[in-house]
Amino acid sequence: MMRAVQLTEIGKALKDADVPVPQIGSSDVLIRVAAAGICHSDVHYRDGISKIEHLPLTLGHEIAGRVEEVGSNVAHVSAGDRVCVHYLVHCGTCEFCVRGLEQFCRSGQMIGKHRDGGYAEFIKVPGANAFPLPDEIPFEVGAIMMCSSATALHALNKARFKAGESIAIFGFGGLGFSALQLARAFDCEDVYVVEINPAKLASAASMGAIAIDARSADPVEQIKEATAGTGVDVALELIGSAKTMRQAVLCLGPLGRAALVGLTAESMSIRPYTELINKEAEIIGVSDHLATELPALIEFACSGKLRFPQETLRVVDLDAAQINAALDALQDSIDHVRTVIKVTSE
Ligand SMILES: [Zn+2]
Ligand SMILES: [Zn+2]
Repeated sequence: MMRAVQLTEIGKALKDADVPVPQIGSSDVLIRVAAAGICHSDVHYRDGISKIEHLPLTLGHEIAGRVEEVGSNVAHVSAGDRVCVHYLVHCGTCEFCVRGLEQFCRSGQMIGKHRDGGYAEFIKVPGANAFPLPDEIPFEVGAIMMCSSATALHALNKARFKAGESIAIFGFGGLGFSALQLARAFDCEDVYVVEINPAKLASAASMGAIAIDARSADPVEQIKEATAGTGVDVALELIGSAKTMRQAVLCLGPLGRAALVGLTAESMSIRPYTELINKEAEIIGVSDHLATELPALIEFACSGKLRFPQETLRVVDLDAAQINAALDALQDSIDHVRTVIKVTSE
């Protein structure tokens, strides 16, 4: 048996549980979880905002640990290896998977939502979801980077962001914190961070960005002025509001790409001729990330280009009361601090 923290009833606190250690199949690995990140999505699962179909469910999709056991068909990792986990389980054979687009897999499952996650002592995942984690990267960082950092990297890739380009990042929460560091790792030109929160503006500036205070004046005007009227090459919208999505499009220069990551059900208006066609600008939707992007992400963390300094991490135990308190705190958290469950004391 092993300890796990589970969602047993929608809208209720998570509970401590003793459950069997999972049995692995020939293509699976069993991982002894070292660290599991607590994510805003987990609040949505607990509160019923994102629908969970099967209960009880062990939450947790940001996971790192040590391989305990491998199935006979798994060759790229072995027992004792440090690994982090790609949270999208996919079939590998449908028309999307064969093109490397597993986020559209016909039978895709998200770990910690459609199948048991990492708020536990052990987790079973397909071998293809276990990525070697270099010794330089602490387990805590290996866990949390597999969600918001991976999605920030996917957004940059979807926007075809490249060295020498300028970028505007709308929103400096968890995604923005990674997006700024990754943009700099790409060897970008100027980075503008648009925010209304003074502490976040100061933090972005201290990390080398040009802080754009959206409370003081129209951020589009400020970016245009700073770029001698041209605009930026890429804009990332990480907030999820029609207003900032429109601003992300308007601050683009010729051939600019606006990548929309934030979620909203609102509609936005665009003047096609002057705002898109004339500039050959593009609006790009971004969802999740891909397994093929993770080695580059791990390399950025390994080389120190992507960092989570100690003060940005908060650690709790594998304990329902502590995890529920962390989920409650996330609901009104405004900073980019990540809370990580430390499961083993490695
Ligand atoms: Zn997450
Ligand atoms: Zn598939």
